[in-house]
Amino acid sequence: MAADTRILIWYRNDLRIHDHEPLHRASHPTSRATSIIPVYCFDPRQFGTTFYGFPKTGAFRAQFLRESVSDLRRSLQSLGSDLIIRQGLPEVVLPEIAKTLGVTAIYYHQEVTSEEVNVETALQAALKPLGVKLQAFWGHTLYHPDDLPFGVAQIPEVFTTFRKQVEKESTVNLPFPSPKQLPALPELAVEDLPDLGDFGLAASPGDDRAVTRFVGGETAGIARLKTYFWERDRLRIYKETRNGMLGEDYSSKFSPWLALGCLSPRYIYEQVQEYEAQRIKNDSTYWLIFELLWRDYFRFICAKHGDRIFRKSGLQGVAIDWKEDGDRFGLWQEGMTGFPLVDANMRELAATGFMSNRGRQNVASFLTKNLGINWQMGAEWFESLLIDYDVCSNWGNWNYTAGVGNDARGFRFFNILKQSKDYDPQGDYVKHWLPELAAIPANKVHEPWKLLPVEQQRFGVRLGVDYPNPVVDLFKSAEENEKIYNAAFAHPTVRHTNGKRLKPKGKARV
Ligand SMILES: Cc1cc2nc3c(=O)[nH]c(=O)nc-3n(C[C@H](O)[C@H](O)[C@H](O)COP(=O)(O)OP(=O)(O)OC[C@H]3O[C@@H](n4cnc5c(N)ncnc54)[C@H](O)[C@@H]3O)c2cc1C
Repeated sequence: MAADTRILIWYRNDLRIHDHEPLHRASHPTSRATSIIPVYCFDPRQFGTTFYGFPKTGAFRAQFLRESVSDLRRSLQSLGSDLIIRQGLPEVVLPEIAKTLGVTAIYYHQEVTSEEVNVETALQAALKPLGVKLQAFWGHTLYHPDDLPFGVAQIPEVFTTFRKQVEKESTVNLPFPSPKQLPALPELAVEDLPDLGDFGLAASPGDDRAVTRFVGGETAGIARLKTYFWERDRLRIYKETRNGMLGEDYSSKFSPWLALGCLSPRYIYEQVQEYEAQRIKNDSTYWLIFELLWRDYFRFICAKHGDRIFRKSGLQGVAIDWKEDGDRFGLWQEGMTGFPLVDANMRELAATGFMSNRGRQNVASFLTKNLGINWQMGAEWFESLLIDYDVCSNWGNWNYTAGVGNDARGFRFFNILKQSKDYDPQGDYVKHWLPELAAIPANKVHEPWKLLPVEQQRFGVRLGVDYPNPVVDLFKSAEENEKIYNAAFAHPTVRHTNGKRLKPKGKARV
């Protein structure tokens, strides 16, 4: 490279210093970069509205993002650099900066889904006349695509096949070292962080009932890992506790930091290995990596299938006659369905931007298999609210739970009552989020519609007044929706790209 190499690092969902290949390559002596210019661009398109009219980035994630960018700036400053912050379209803003500062190359982490890839393509086109090189790196997954036993186009459709082959034949690379210092930024206004108000959002006041107060940024992400693994020693029992719904430590809570790239999965992997060497290696330590493989899987599946993951017919390409009943959808959003487990989870999401994995599976199943409502509406509501929203994990999981995923296993639905009794036997979780049910004994709290009038009086809850009657009959509604689901598979109007006739693969209640 020329002696006056000036490299711009375009930060996106990779808001960290550690294990950051673009930053590492740029700051490595062999790059001979005279300037390294880190930039973050708040893209107004991310703050618009979704198809069904929800804020695309709601206040919880916007706040977390703001904190993460702020933390990144502090870290870069401590290394002698800084972060240039802009609001605008990256394909407009970055070429402007490149022109002003004589940038020779832009390094960035590539994404796989259309909105993000479109920005990359537009940027490439805008940079061409300037002669600025655009170099992509892959950095969101545990496994690098070059190290997989198959090409991205050959990624197995079934998770277990993917996992087994990867576990047998691939290895995880070591994290890239963090730079010890960086060159000072050339003269250019760095600009202040925007406020939530700039995006038309108001900061959430916070909620004492939340599992934790998620603070954005690499510093807080690494601190969470230290607490969860090393101080509280919770990794050793992760497999037993991960299906919980109450409290900070039933699961790692790494997801918001992973989603914005504040934590690198390879760093987590390295720490798990360290933990296994120093403390214990057991099913729980394995299981955390197993879950990270799900995350990898959905990203690779998105890379393979492109926009199919967003379509109503899903990865299966099957035209199910989903309803778009706004009133019932509203009850689901507000946590007013009359099923305490669903309502408690939906109220937690609305109040905090987080929900456990157990909760997400139940509410997604309820929306699609009991209410028969278009899963895309649910996916968009999650996109709006989730603090840990990750495009591949969210849309991939929704495909999966709606039964339109590549790995669809027929009409599987969650028996909400069984789930309630299995995962919340004392009713602690539902009472935490539904104070109106607080006085009902554990053996009755999951089925308030069965309370006799005298019991309602005794426990201080009037059905239909203080807490709603169930919006549907759990089993009848599932049966009706199963018929609709199976009819779509019997007469598919959309075919899977491999041209095979689709058949549901059995039925299960979980
Ligand atoms: C309908 C639905 C939507 C979801 N949307 C998202 C989303 O937008 N963003 C997101 O990060 N996760 C999503 N998940 C997956 C999962 O619920 C969360 O990753 C998990 O609850 C986060 O909590 P944790 O970090 O404590 O998880 P842990 O149990 O501690 O797991 C560790 C990490 O493994 C990964 N992981 C775990 N389960 C899954 C999974 N099923 N799919 C992909 N990765 C997984 C996450 O990165 C997680 O942080 C969704 C699941 C469902 C059913």
